[in-house]
Amino acid sequence: MSNDRVMIVGAGVGGLTAAVALKRAGREIAVFERAPQLLELGAGFAIQSNAVTALRQIGLGEEFGHELTELDQDDSGVTVRFANGAEERGAMLIGADGSNSTVRTRFDETRRRYSGYTTWLALSNLASPEPDTHTQWYGEHSIFGAHAVGGGKTYWYASKTAPEGEHEEDTKRNLLALFGDWHEVVPAFIEATDQIPRSDIYDLDRRDAWGSGRVTLVGDAAHPMVPALGQGACQAIEDGVVLARCVSADGDPVSALRTYEAKRIARTAPIVKRARAQGKLMQGDNTVMRLARDLSFRLAPTGQVLKSFQKVLTYPDA
Ligand SMILES: Cc1cc2nc3c(=O)[nH]c(=O)nc-3n(C[C@H](O)[C@H](O)[C@H](O)COP(=O)(O)OP(=O)(O)OC[C@H]3O[C@@H](n4cnc5c(N)ncnc54)[C@H](O)[C@@H]3O)c2cc1C
Repeated sequence: MSNDRVMIVGAGVGGLTAAVALKRAGREIAVFERAPQLLELGAGFAIQSNAVTALRQIGLGEEFGHELTELDQDDSGVTVRFANGAEERGAMLIGADGSNSTVRTRFDETRRRYSGYTTWLALSNLASPEPDTHTQWYGEHSIFGAHAVGGGKTYWYASKTAPEGEHEEDTKRNLLALFGDWHEVVPAFIEATDQIPRSDIYDLDRRDAWGSGRVTLVGDAAHPMVPALGQGACQAIEDGVVLARCVSADGDPVSALRTYEAKRIARTAPIVKRARAQGKLMQGDNTVMRLARDLSFRLAPTGQVLKSFQKVLTYPDA
């Protein structure tokens, strides 16, 4: 195995985009994922078996059941160790291990900030009555959103203001108690859902570096953000593309990774901040917030709203 390869830890959308982009740039890649199988991945996006098979066809080697626990680096490379006892070495390490990243904590003590709300995200076996539509309903301390995805299914999510780490015995019953008297399709979507994973939502303030030496981060590991703008995975994808471009343009891995970080910190920090403000407003935790939120829906001119999103929705390195 060549020591010139790039090691990527985490096979979510961030890690896999970086892997594809670096592979296309001619680098040898190894992806290490802690999940023993395919369906447990990611909070908002899951990479399932069909995508993994497709990725294998373009030569991405992934190792499942590899949970990174330790890393060391020196002038010529990075050595990583896994909970299963394996040890690997490569020229660079990309931490794509999500919001609670182990790679990040090895050189950055900044702790994630709990947003004050928790979310559920699931796929209902009920078709949306309005195809090609995304709908959101807003209440006190809570939001429900549904997105028609075809094939008789609807992707939906819900959020609720809650203490961090709150335990629930019966998720479906809990959600039906919370949303049972909302628009009739809301409890119907919940009823027709088999699995409803829950995630507390965190973000992280801007830092001036994401890594050191031959190590960096992509995706939620680098810039966890609340989902209010729907940008977490979008920014993870941009990260992977810019990372590959920087690594291709600069033969020195250390300066290539710092160039990548400078570009991506400037891009993502304002989005994290804006998502935080938007999430707080939309959550509707007090009367003033609810009034401001509801008025903004009624009065803000559509053109102005779209214009305010132009920068977020424009890929800066196109
Ligand atoms: C309710 C909700 C709605 C959302 N909606 C949107 C949306 O509409 N649009 C959008 O762009 N984004 C959205 N997001 C955000 C999006 O889901 C995330 O930003 C994205 O999934 C992050 O991808 P990632 O690859 O960085 O991290 P993850 O998907 O978290 O993947 C990290 C991977 O690393 C693995 N891992 C972790 N630790 C280790 C370790 N020590 N060793 C090995 N492997 C490890 C994990 O098992 C996991 O597979 C939403 C999120 C939520 C919660």
